[in-house]
Amino acid sequence: MEHEAVIGLEIHVELNCDAKMFCNCPNRPGDDPNRNTCPVCLWFPGALPRFNGEALEKAALIALGLNCTLQPKSAFDQKVYYYPDLPKGFQLSQAHLPLARNGWLEIAGEDGGPKRLRIHKIHMEEDVARLVHELEGRTPVSLVDFNRAGVPLVEIVTEPDLRSPQDAMDFVRALRTQIRHIGAADCSMEAGTMRVDANISLRPPGTDELNTKVEVKNMNSIRHVGDAIAYEIERQAAALAAGEAIILHTRLWDPEKRITVPMRGKFEGPCIPDSTVPSILVNEALKEALLARLPEMPAKKAERFTAQYGLTADEAQMMSAERDLAEYFEALVGERIAPRTAAHWLATQLLPALKERSQGLAESPVTPARLAALLAMLEREEINANAARAVLMRLFDSDRDPAAIVAAEGFRQVSDSGELAKIVEGVLAANPTAVEDYRNGVAKAIGFLIGQVMQGSQGKANPKLVRELLMGKLGEGQ
Ligand SMILES: [Zn+2]
Repeated sequence: MEHEAVIGLEIHVELNCDAKMFCNCPNRPGDDPNRNTCPVCLWFPGALPRFNGEALEKAALIALGLNCTLQPKSAFDQKVYYYPDLPKGFQLSQAHLPLARNGWLEIAGEDGGPKRLRIHKIHMEEDVARLVHELEGRTPVSLVDFNRAGVPLVEIVTEPDLRSPQDAMDFVRALRTQIRHIGAADCSMEAGTMRVDANISLRPPGTDELNTKVEVKNMNSIRHVGDAIAYEIERQAAALAAGEAIILHTRLWDPEKRITVPMRGKFEGPCIPDSTVPSILVNEALKEALLARLPEMPAKKAERFTAQYGLTADEAQMMSAERDLAEYFEALVGERIAPRTAAHWLATQLLPALKERSQGLAESPVTPARLAALLAMLEREEINANAARAVLMRLFDSDRDPAAIVAAEGFRQVSDSGELAKIVEGVLAANPTAVEDYRNGVAKAIGFLIGQVMQGSQGKANPKLVRELLMGKLGEGQ
């Protein structure tokens, strides 16, 4: 029997605030274990939490960036359960009155148009401690590191609008892009600063039933999110085909075996309104102030790049996806480089070169000013594209400016038609078969001949001029 998958995501994002959510301890979970602790985040009895305003600001900016409505009043609850990473017995979370509701995010749909996926709510909560399982001699021990206890989190809960593993991967990518743009979190699944849980159920296509769902956790990359959901859809379909009932529970993704394995029954403890942290009130003035601080979001930026600079939709989307890339692109355009040239060189040359060197744009020795100087020489036809690529590579290893490299290493383009005509004649004489082919209508023969002339000029010829000279000569004999 055919099934339709119904998928909802719950995504925890660690905010990059300086301090923890309810105390002034540094928000640096990676430091030596238990360094960043105090009576509040060690959860000593009687220690009173004090809410960190920066966490509210960052969480609210994320909510606004995801098109949510900030709620006039939100409040913390005590989510009651005991676990060794939560020895105080409850987690401060916003179960009843979340910070924000009713948002959305668009991904590309199957038909190429935008597909809008709804966000049910966004709430704030504190992270729990981290358990480290080790061997002391031959004795297994579990250690508790409280550096992460009380780290500010937001949890983003979608509506069950996703229908495929691809939807889920696209949603997580789009979400990460938005939040990084806002600058409120790093969103690294590998480092655990973004954690994605997926709720999956199946139903007959075209119905709106919501059947018993299974929760899948423990994916540490976006690819794993897709793989785990794909596996779980197949597992449930096989179970239903065998007449088994789907039971509400939580499963873990095993990336080695590429399967999900049962972890525990899904347990929701009681939630009691917390009386130690005051309610959070968001009035119009605060909302306006936050909206004014919200940077231009990628989708808006992509629209502007198309309208203002004439980029194609694909180019605009790529140039607007990351904030530092968008800034770099606009810096190039600001140096009067043609926008499409700038986008093309970033996408096909600079970014791959940086990736190869494991460098980010921010640490790139090739600054916008240096790349602009190089591209300006290309646009003035002083060098050709081959030479520009070679000079770009040299910019990584040298702080000389591009003009100096071109002059010193003889990259200047040969646009002297007398000099080129000699090479052209030599190539035509040496390649009678290609000449014959061209005259017999084999169009690609011209590409071969151009290549030969470029080689004859050590790659320095002006390719436009070479083509003109070749066409002229080839036309003569006819
Ligand atoms: Zn603390």
